Amino acid sequence: MKIEEDVALSRFTTLGTGGPARAFARPETLEELQDALRFAHERGLHVATIGLGSNLLVSDHGFDGLALKLAGVLAQSHVQGDLLVAGGGAPNAVSLHRARAAGLGGFEFACAIPGTAGGGVWMNAGAYGGDWAGILERALIVDAGGASWRTTTELGLRYRHSDLRHGQIVAQVEFRLRPRAPDEIKEVVAGLQAQRKAAQPTNKRTFGSVFKNPPHELSAGRMLEACGLKGHRIGGAQISPRHANFIENADGASSADAIALMAEARRRARDEYGVELQHEVEFLGGLQLPPLSR
Ligand SMILES: Cc1cc2nc3c(=O)[nH]c(=O)nc-3n(C[C@H](O)[C@H](O)[C@H](O)COP(=O)(O)OP(=O)(O)OC[C@H]3O[C@@H](n4cnc5c(N)ncnc54)[C@H](O)[C@@H]3O)c2cc1C
Repeated sequence: MKIEEDVALSRFTTLGTGGPARAFARPETLEELQDALRFAHERGLHVATIGLGSNLLVSDHGFDGLALKLAGVLAQSHVQGDLLVAGGGAPNAVSLHRARAAGLGGFEFACAIPGTAGGGVWMNAGAYGGDWAGILERALIVDAGGASWRTTTELGLRYRHSDLRHGQIVAQVEFRLRPRAPDEIKEVVAGLQAQRKAAQPTNKRTFGSVFKNPPHELSAGRMLEACGLKGHRIGGAQISPRHANFIENADGASSADAIALMAEARRRARDEYGVELQHEVEFLGGLQLPPLSR
């Protein structure tokens, strides 16, 4: 396995921003993953895994550590009985295809989530009333100390949260599904995708929801829309004119532009609704939002 230097992470994020990783590797097997972790451990490097970068904002200055992109068997999926077995780096679209071909339902909601099995565990991804916690049987977590299988409870899965930390890699995930006719799955998926297309900027470069929904009658999107922020632009980034909880790379955006927009959105939500929005997108490379001034 090759360890590369200074690889631009903007290539691996759906927003298309982010500076270089000091070291970068694509482990294709469990053994290679463990080699990569050993390499990082010996050099005192932080480790972070990148899935499809669909929920990730990387600093323009990059990540001063080892970034891993799972490949080979760690990015494939197959069906075993009523289990969908997915490598941590397996794209949800491929896993859904495998499940449908085998006549297994329960993963349809993931058609709306353009990430990987491992990225989904990291933040308990979910949509349309389904989430990872609802179907996950167990996940294989690998870190510098070894490998262990963990259940939903042991992973601490709750609304858009797990207890995982960088350096803990989801190498494999088992989902328990149930029999469902492939045609029925196809129909449900088509319906969900149509709903998505009608409500969200699906053909733009975004990283999905910017903020978690607050405990408030308004969702984050509706609140930011009511603050008049739809279409608001800083540098090359703009709040989606279609859905205010999305930031689009309108034209050569940087991660700093996205952070500045997020800071402005938080300030407005706090001033107008007294709500402190929490970001759903994951930060890498030391990014931080400025504190809300009193
Ligand atoms: C158009 C659009 C719509 C979206 N809709 C939804 C939605 O409806 N519901 C929803 O929940 N999300 C949604 N998202 C966000 C995103 O797709 C999910 O959060 C997804 O689960 C992220 O997976 P990923 O593989 O892209 O992870 P990344 O974005 O690459 O990484 C996210 C975090 O997970 C960690 N990570 C990734 N893979 C691993 C691994 N194997 N082991 C350990 N850590 C890992 C990363 O280090 C990072 O901290 C949407 C995104 C877009 C662009």
